[in-house]
Amino acid sequence: MAEEPAPATPEGTEQEAPQPSHKIEASRSSRARCRTCRKKIDKDVLRIGILYEGPYGPSYGWHHLKCAARAQFDEVEEAYRIEAWTLDLEVPTLEELKEHKEKAEERKATKKELPYAERAKSNRSKCKHSGEPIDKDAWRIVLSRGVEFGGMTRNSPTNVLPQYVAAELENPECLTEAEGFFDSLRENSTDLTEDDFAELESLVGDLGA
Ligand SMILES: [Zn+2]
Repeated sequence: MAEEPAPATPEGTEQEAPQPSHKIEASRSSRARCRTCRKKIDKDVLRIGILYEGPYGPSYGWHHLKCAARAQFDEVEEAYRIEAWTLDLEVPTLEELKEHKEKAEERKATKKELPYAERAKSNRSKCKHSGEPIDKDAWRIVLSRGVEFGGMTRNSPTNVLPQYVAAELENPECLTEAEGFFDSLRENSTDLTEDDFAELESLVGDLGA
């Protein structure tokens, strides 16, 4: 069959069955891997395909729709502009995906906000309040101390064993407030469980605030 040269359009040239630049669908199998997070995309989970020029012609690179929203929001916007899904598919609104992206960015930005709690990754750290060594995997609370530097006070992360938190909070150099301490701890220690917080609250004890 003789092929007619496709006319050039501002969008580029299309040959034979034109493939849309983007495609949103419920994953038909669990074989594809998300190109953003590298994890498998489970069957029936919403995914977005972004057409790219592969070695054997155009082909879709797949991402979880939510991963794409976080990493390549402009591609998701384009997919929504062309409504790249079948009518029977239920998709979140673009507004919801934008919110998801913004929340993820917020979490990232506040990750190391002080104070937070973590298990010590090694046994090399010391409690700044008591001078005692902190064992690997033991809880440590990272508080903020003001450090004078060139006439300015800077926040400096300070490791403290849970049982000394109350005393450290009374240290004039400590910039972390006793008021609302556990709320801040929860907000900033994003990877801890409810059980962890319960344990920490009993280890730290009453702060009288
Ligand atoms: Zn993903």
